[in-house]
Amino acid sequence: MHQEQDCIFCKIVNGDIPSAKVYEDDHVYAFLDISQVTKGHTLVIPKEHCQDIYHTDTEVAENLFSRIPKIANAIKSAYQPIGLNTLNNNGEPAGQSVFHLHIHLIPRYGENDGFG
Ligand code: 5GP
Ligand code: ZN
Repeated sequence: MHQEQDCIFCKIVNGDIPSAKVYEDDHVYAFLDISQVTKGHTLVIPKEHCQDIYHTDTEVAENLFSRIPKIANAIKSAYQPIGLNTLNNNGEPAGQSVFHLHIHLIPRYGENDGFG
């Protein structure tokens, strides 16, 4: 499993930085965003370090994206949102600030929920 020494999300996967775990298996880790835009805002990441979608091979992507419905349903059960956005930023101009591939799952609660 390729990891990067200075990557904060690799450190989260390793447990070197604490996180609020939402889901974990051999390939994928999901945890609450430290700065939640809405209640239950979750990040889903491959355990393997990939900088962004351009640097992710098919197998890693398949493992990552195949878990999204399951994790979305777990969030739905836990927080009872009325909708959910999935979001993935690639490159600084697109809003990426952590350079380890991640999918935002942002539960939605209505017009004034703080997002969008
Ligand atoms: P990006 O802007 O790259 O799409 O999203 C990075 C996300 O990572 C941001 O929403 C930010 O709040 C979150 N984040 C940054 N550092 C940490 C951390 O140490 N722990 C957690 N749980 N989230 C983090
Ligand atoms: Zn990493």
